[in-house]
Amino acid sequence: MTERRKLIAGNWKMNGLKTDGVALARAVAAQRAAAGPSAASAVDLLVCPPATLVWPVAEAVAGTGLAVGGQDCHPKVSGAHTGDISAAMLAEAGCTAVIVGHSERRQDHGEGDALIAAKAAAAHAAGLMAIICVGETETERDRGDAGTVVQRQLTGSIPPGATAANTVIAYEPVWAIGTGRTATATDVAEIHALIRADLVRRLATGNGVRILYGGSVKPANARDLMAVPDVDGALVGGASLKADEFWAIAMSCP
Ligand code: PEP
Repeated sequence: MTERRKLIAGNWKMNGLKTDGVALARAVAAQRAAAGPSAASAVDLLVCPPATLVWPVAEAVAGTGLAVGGQDCHPKVSGAHTGDISAAMLAEAGCTAVIVGHSERRQDHGEGDALIAAKAAAAHAAGLMAIICVGETETERDRGDAGTVVQRQLTGSIPPGATAANTVIAYEPVWAIGTGRTATATDVAEIHALIRADLVRRLATGNGVRILYGGSVKPANARDLMAVPDVDGALVGGASLKADEFWAIAMSCP
C-alpha cells in the first residue's frame, strides 16, 4: 500500500498584517518544536499567508520544518498582469507550494478549470507543489450533482505532468467553507473515493497523491474527518489563524 504523509495546510486568506502573521507562524513552529521529533515528523505542516507576508513569514520560520505556500499564482511567468504574482516569485520568496482554484477564486474572480490547470502547470514549472481545490456548491449537492461536478473539475484542473510529488487535491464543498457546517464522514468518503479512482486512472502515481478535506475543519471534528479513508490531511481556513487550533488539528491525524 502507498504511504501518504498527512498534510495540514493553513489558508490564512486575506487576514493579518506583518506582525500578526510572523507571530502566528512562529507560534505554529514553536508548537511543532515543543512536541518533539516524533510528533513533528508525523505530519507535514504548511501555512499560506497573504502574498505580502510570504517573504517575512518564510524568513521567520526558515529551518523549523514549517513550510510556506502562496494562495494563488498567475499562469504566466511574467508580463503585463497588474496585481498578479507568478509562481517563480512565490518560490523566490520561500514558498514550496501554492493553492490554486480555491472556490473563493473560482467565485470572486470567475476562475475556470482551464485557467486553474494552467496555474497548476506554472506552479510545477517553478518547482512548487500545486494544491488544486475542487468542490460542489450547495445547489449542486442538493441536485445530486456533487460527484459529477467534482469529476468535471478534476478532469479540467489537473495539468499534464501532475505527479504525487508535485500535486495535492483539496476537496472543499463550497457550502462547508467558513460556515461551521462540515460534510458527513460518509459524504467525504464517497467524494474522496471518487477522486482517488480518478487519480489512479489518470496518473501513474495517482495512488500517492494526497487528497485533503477542507470546510470548517476544527479541533472538535478533525479526528473523525482525518480517520476517513483517503483523507490525507486538511486544508484549514478559519482555524488556521489560531496556532493552538491549527496544531490541535495536526495532532488529530491518525
Ligand atoms: C478554506 O478556506 O479553504 C477553508 C476550508 O475555510 P474554513 O476552514 O474556514 O471553512
